[in-house]
Amino acid sequence: MAPQLELQRIGGPADETDVMREQLEYLIEHISQEVLCGCSECQRYLKVRSILLEIFAEPPRANVQQIAPQFSKAA
Ligand SMILES: [Zn+2]
Repeated sequence: MAPQLELQRIGGPADETDVMREQLEYLIEHISQEVLCGCSECQRYLKVRSILLEIFAEPPRANVQQIAPQFSKAA
């Protein structure tokens, strides 16, 4: 319908998002193939991963021993 609009998007602000998405896919693909070989791409992946998964990081769970029942007093 409007091919000109598509052309205008190339090089525009949307391009940066595309680049970021491509980079992320590239890094994910790299570590899935190389299994953290330790190169600079792996380092980039680990950085991005820690940032992107930051909000999912769980606080350290309560010590399991605290949950252990103290029924030994009974009887
Ligand atoms: Zn690597």
